Amino acid sequence: MIPHLVFFDVDNTLTESKQPLSARKVELMTELLRHTKVAITSGAKIALITHQIPDQLPEEVRSNLYMLPASGSALYEYKDGEWKAVYEDLFTPEEVEEVRAAFLNAGTDTGLIDFNAPSVGERIEWRGSEMALTAPGQEAPIDVKAAWDPDRSKRMKLREVLLPLLPNYEVRIAGRSTIDVTKKGIDKAYGVQQISQYLNIPIADMIYIGDALYPGGNDEVVKKSGIKTHQVKDPKETEQLMETLLAS
Ligand SMILES: [Mg+2]
Repeated sequence: MIPHLVFFDVDNTLTESKQPLSARKVELMTELLRHTKVAITSGAKIALITHQIPDQLPEEVRSNLYMLPASGSALYEYKDGEWKAVYEDLFTPEEVEEVRAAFLNAGTDTGLIDFNAPSVGERIEWRGSEMALTAPGQEAPIDVKAAWDPDRSKRMKLREVLLPLLPNYEVRIAGRSTIDVTKKGIDKAYGVQQISQYLNIPIADMIYIGDALYPGGNDEVVKKSGIKTHQVKDPKETEQLMETLLAS
């Protein structure tokens, strides 16, 4: 039986990093949405995941899709032809400044980021209910991002310095060269609990599919919600899993 809600991570699970759904995935996702509800979550902001997933899908299936951008710190649903926030705990301008100052201090104190050097796109991005620090810049090519911190050691060091500076926030290693910050207690597991309450679907009737459920991976945190999980290695494997789900 298909779970009452299928939860997907986006980058490297449904799509390549920041890319739209492939043609085959559009077919499979459309079919899945005809049979059950689907939620997608990502560290990225709403505009990017809207482009990656629902913009590629036929309008008639979008109302069965829910988006949790910015690491679950917001929930969006499709109503009356547009995406509307069910909740979104926006940072105040003071909070934005507090986190920005901590990023600047941590990058400079560790000697890991020279904020005076040019970057490809902004290094610090405010995503509404989340702040992100991406050392080479948000728009840097994937290989440049991947080469910056392949063993995570730089981000672990940055996180260590950020933790005492940001006691009221969650500080996570994300993506390839990024640190994400949301308010305390807000993460993908919070998103799972929120959507369970909102749709009145028990967590036991859901499954979470992600590429980074291993220790230290950016999907691991969902496990504390008690949701059943399924690790995939890449979008190709997710395609096979969707076919299996649809056949069940
Ligand atoms: Mg991922």
